[in-house]
Amino acid sequence: METQQTTVIINGAGPTGLSLACQLLRYGIDFIILDKNEKTTHLSKAMVVHARTMEIFHEIGVAEKAVAQGQTTGQMNLMTNGKIRQQLQLTRFGEGLTQFPFFLILEQSKTETLLAEHLVSEGKQVQWNSEFIRLEESGDHVTVTYKDGNGAERQITGDYLVGCDGAKSIVRHQLGLAFEGDTEEELFFVADVKINSATLQPGNAYVNLTDGGFVIFFPMQGEHHYRVIGIVPDEFKSKEELAFDDFKTIIKIQAQFELGFEETFWFSTYRVHSRKANSFGRGRCYIAGDAAHIHTPAGGQGMNTGIQDAYNLAWKLAYVIKGKADPSLLETYSIERVANAEKLLKTTDRAFDLLTTEGIFGRFFRTYMIPFVAAIATKTSFTMRSVFPMISMLSIKYPHSPLTTKSHIGKIHAGDRMPYFLHKGVSIYEQLKNPGFKLLRFGNAAIPDDLFSDSVQLHIVGVPAFFEGETDFYIVLRPDNYISYIGRDLAGIRVV
Ligand SMILES: Cc1cc2nc3c(=O)[nH]c(=O)nc-3n(C[C@H](O)[C@H](O)[C@H](O)COP(=O)(O)OP(=O)(O)OC[C@H]3O[C@@H](n4cnc5c(N)ncnc54)[C@H](O)[C@@H]3O)c2cc1C
Repeated sequence: METQQTTVIINGAGPTGLSLACQLLRYGIDFIILDKNEKTTHLSKAMVVHARTMEIFHEIGVAEKAVAQGQTTGQMNLMTNGKIRQQLQLTRFGEGLTQFPFFLILEQSKTETLLAEHLVSEGKQVQWNSEFIRLEESGDHVTVTYKDGNGAERQITGDYLVGCDGAKSIVRHQLGLAFEGDTEEELFFVADVKINSATLQPGNAYVNLTDGGFVIFFPMQGEHHYRVIGIVPDEFKSKEELAFDDFKTIIKIQAQFELGFEETFWFSTYRVHSRKANSFGRGRCYIAGDAAHIHTPAGGQGMNTGIQDAYNLAWKLAYVIKGKADPSLLETYSIERVANAEKLLKTTDRAFDLLTTEGIFGRFFRTYMIPFVAAIATKTSFTMRSVFPMISMLSIKYPHSPLTTKSHIGKIHAGDRMPYFLHKGVSIYEQLKNPGFKLLRFGNAAIPDDLFSDSVQLHIVGVPAFFEGETDFYIVLRPDNYISYIGRDLAGIRVV
């Protein structure tokens, strides 16, 4: 049997695996990407591409296509028991914080197609109909055995393996990495439907908090097309099989406003899992995306987090494979991304508990406290300035990473994502697309020595106001545009 050879084997061509492949292309690293399916998903699943993901898409050249194929969310309406209580304009919610200050609605099927087509345009493609069976790690390589479309067993040998194979990851199982956490008791439903209603306005989202829980109407592409998410009431749970007519009834009861159903595209029920692996790698094998962590889909964070796992891992693999960094660099992938997943699970769990708590307290919280707090928050620009970065993942940071040299200028700290600003009239991110370390020299800071000669260097004369009056300093940026050092003295500062 002929064995295929490559550098990185990627198992799974969902958004995480496809993103990893697109990133490895930027660094010129060879890979083979396998998937047991015959093509990308046709399901809408994750519907929002967040700003931080858009910045990453911009680097690989697919952000503009994503914008052209998607649509931005209009207004968010907070309702209680069918009545609108608060409205929040989302169209340019994150203005001044990123080149992509909106929530882009793009179905997961389209996001995956975009990434898969990008691979093809670069001369690579997914090896479909290839089901991973087992891995064997020995010394300096990993061998993967998979079953091809005819049922024949085949092998690939690579330097590294990354399991991007979803929540039931076979790679995670074979590595023996525990997947700890729990599963909510509640049964949720999701339906993609065409709805006729005078209450629902095109492009707007509606979060309706009810005595019994919530029902969310999220705009999808296409006229009157909505994703509806809610909790299956106890009286329906005992039914052997729920038909869509049951869902129509449930949605009407929960919405508490006039609506009619015109068409149903997809509906399903699911239980929310909240789990993560304690380590995202062992030896030459790593896991990323849903294979490493899963949480409630309501926060719209799952797919985006997987894409960002891949972004974090790709440059580290590339630097180690090219001999530019010690293999210990790869340990920082797990350190940084496990911490991120932990924080995310805590936040989504807390938010979800608030939405689903039963009894008088839950009802009081949903129908009185949340609208009350939202009314105050939407009037405070400080609160609003922190909401967009949190949801759109701009505020993800690595302050405790071994790659972060504790330092700060004003409110900007090492470990933060490079803050967005305009340099010579264009987004600073336009000048940070190069997949390598960068040195930004601000004001009159001295020209650095040869140690940084391999890094892209930028001189910034007009220093943005958020540096609070400081003018002469440096920022050392990692290839993923997180700050590894910010300060006035480069002595002792190294790039890996
Ligand atoms: C209803 C719903 C709504 C959601 N909404 C959102 C949202 O709004 N925002 C958001 O960010 N996320 C959302 N999510 C979550 C999102 O869909 C997932 O987080 C995302 O798909 C994870 O991507 P992944 O690539 O890690 O895994 P997956 O998408 O699960 O991809 C794994 C791939 O691995 C392949 N595979 C598995 N086993 C093998 C094997 N043995 N051999 C070869 N191939 C294999 C599979 O065929 C698949 O293609 C939602 C999910 C659901 C179900």
